[in-house]
Amino acid sequence: MSITDKAPGTTSGIDRARIEEVLGKTPKGLLINGAWRDASDGGTFEVENPATGEVIATLASATRADAAAAMDAAATAQEGWARTSARSRSEILRAAFDLVQERAQDLALLMTLEMGKPFAEALGEVKYGGEFLRWFSEEAVRDYGRYVESPEGNLRMLVTRKPVGPCLLITPWNFPLAMATRKVAPAVAAGCTMVLKPARLTPLTSQYFAALMIEAGIPAGVLNVVSSASAADVSEPIMADPRLRKVSFTGSTPVGKQLMKAATDQVLRTSMELGGNGPLIVFEDADIDKAVAGAMAAKMRNMGEACTAANRLLVHEDVAEQFVAKLAEQMGALTVGNGVDEGVQVGPLVEAKARDSVEAFVADAVERGAKVVVGGARIEGPGYFFAPTLLTDVPHDARVVREEIFGPVAPVVTFRDEDEAVALANATEYGLASYVFTENISRGLRIGDRIEFGLMGLNVGVISNAAAPFGGVKQSGLGREGGAEGLAEYTTTQYIGVENPWGTLPPAAPGTPA
Ligand code: NAD
Repeated sequence: MSITDKAPGTTSGIDRARIEEVLGKTPKGLLINGAWRDASDGGTFEVENPATGEVIATLASATRADAAAAMDAAATAQEGWARTSARSRSEILRAAFDLVQERAQDLALLMTLEMGKPFAEALGEVKYGGEFLRWFSEEAVRDYGRYVESPEGNLRMLVTRKPVGPCLLITPWNFPLAMATRKVAPAVAAGCTMVLKPARLTPLTSQYFAALMIEAGIPAGVLNVVSSASAADVSEPIMADPRLRKVSFTGSTPVGKQLMKAATDQVLRTSMELGGNGPLIVFEDADIDKAVAGAMAAKMRNMGEACTAANRLLVHEDVAEQFVAKLAEQMGALTVGNGVDEGVQVGPLVEAKARDSVEAFVADAVERGAKVVVGGARIEGPGYFFAPTLLTDVPHDARVVREEIFGPVAPVVTFRDEDEAVALANATEYGLASYVFTENISRGLRIGDRIEFGLMGLNVGVISNAAAPFGGVKQSGLGREGGAEGLAEYTTTQYIGVENPWGTLPPAAPGTPA
């Protein structure tokens, strides 16, 4: 493992003038009713680069009054927006998709600067995140209802899907663009207005994306963006407003639970994309090179800061030694550093607290008897780096296998047979992503039947895309994002019973309700 020079201002891959240019053109205000403005009390908050510890931007920090104003704008715009044609909403999304491609370099750089992921990975997120705009531009015009005769023949049944109404969208810091497009695009397609609250640590990407949406033609009030130092100051007044209809949240399970409780007061529709504790199972009949490549992708993507991360590597005891040796070689060869520098594969963790938390996970595992095969320690700053770490002999009670790590740490646990693998995989309150490696496809599909996870990769380590209905079971959440299901989350079904157009009723069968 190597670490590149990560001192402030010494980035070799992308020069400072280019960084200043992109930061300079990113809006710093609140987007309310189509205009960028300062916070009502003039308050601001700072955004830091986790690779250097430098402050890179100062943004307006929305107050409760600003949040209420954003909600008001969304509620006022809702009726007119719902009446626009699906085609016109589709065209806005398509234009936004094109603009995201055109400004991919800017968006990727912002993500690297505010979140730390390597620039090449950030470009990958632009591609992935942009696809939600294209997918939902295509889905917008295919949101079909039905017109059928009632079983008794006395009514015609008109079933339509309507926009659910104004939505509050709350996003996390780990995928600053994709988590926003995954919510904004289906809401736009369905005809919902919205207030977007980006994560405090990574608001710049959403701010820039909102400017692109304006350029793409989104009308005033449809998309409002209220970045803030205080999440509760934004969510509380909005969730108390009787005009709000839905809250869509991606983030940690504890915050999701709080929001679900708050949502009961107004019986709000909720979509909850929460935490994970994904198993990656390697059977004795797996192609080990494929399994190692899958583990590298599922564990190391985004420095392990992904809800879909393979948190635990469950490996059959017959192939564990071979698997660990190959994985150790690849993890040990990773280049850690500032994501703007060329060749960097692993960036910093998002903040000091995240780095300290990963350190505590490793210390706990080692205390309980785990062996460190690769890494095992923080890399001194500036910035919040932790070495890619491979642990073996990890006991079942170690925190690293029971909780979501959110860092570049791979704990290996061995198993003896299929039943034990399934039992270990399911022994968690979470149920988001899982991965299975076996060359026996029947076995793979059998595991699919038995595993309690919303997503499963069979012989692959990355499965998310815009067409996939992404979401979890158990405490990983409710609802799906992406696919046709992603649009349904932003619509509500209305049924209109229409009198028989022939004016006469067919003879009713005995016992038919009137
Ligand atoms: P977080 O829960 O701390 O924050 C998520 C968002 O909620 C942020 O915008 C934050 O400002 C806001 N928030 C925090 N407290 C709030 C409150 N009291 N009221 C309203 N909003 C509040 O999560 P995070 O650290 O940003 O993200 C990491 C977590 O997100 C991990 O658990 C990860 O698994 C999960 N995640 C899940 C998915 C998924 O699709 N299931 C995707 C990405 C991340």
